[in-house]
Amino acid sequence: MSRKYKVLVVDDSTAMRMLIKASLQDSEFDVVAEAGDGGEAVQSFKVSAPDLVLLDIVMPVMGGVEALGQIMAQDKNAVVIMVSSLGTEDAVREALKTGAKNFLQKPVEQESLLKILRNTVDLFMGR
Ligand SMILES: [Mg+2]
Repeated sequence: MSRKYKVLVVDDSTAMRMLIKASLQDSEFDVVAEAGDGGEAVQSFKVSAPDLVLLDIVMPVMGGVEALGQIMAQDKNAVVIMVSSLGTEDAVREALKTGAKNFLQKPVEQESLLKILRNTVDLFMGR
């Protein structure tokens, strides 16, 4: 692993953010920033300039799809993976149209999380 990828983790659940961070420990993915709602995510994206964003869909204040739109407006090459829960299929479809590169279904498991991150890197970032 020569390169580390900077990841911004966005979820309104602290427990989910902790789970994702723990799952990425000792991998080539480095969680450099966290946010608890869409507005924070947009700000944090500006400041932390991550290589990848894991973006929850259902959040208070500003949801993931709206945040995605603002992130893509900041950087059209942003690599964003939506983290979806049951019942958000329409939102996932809209997110993919808005520029999300991939999506991951909750519950988040380490194996599928790493797989989707690595696939996304391979497809969209080369390595
Ligand atoms: Mg949520």
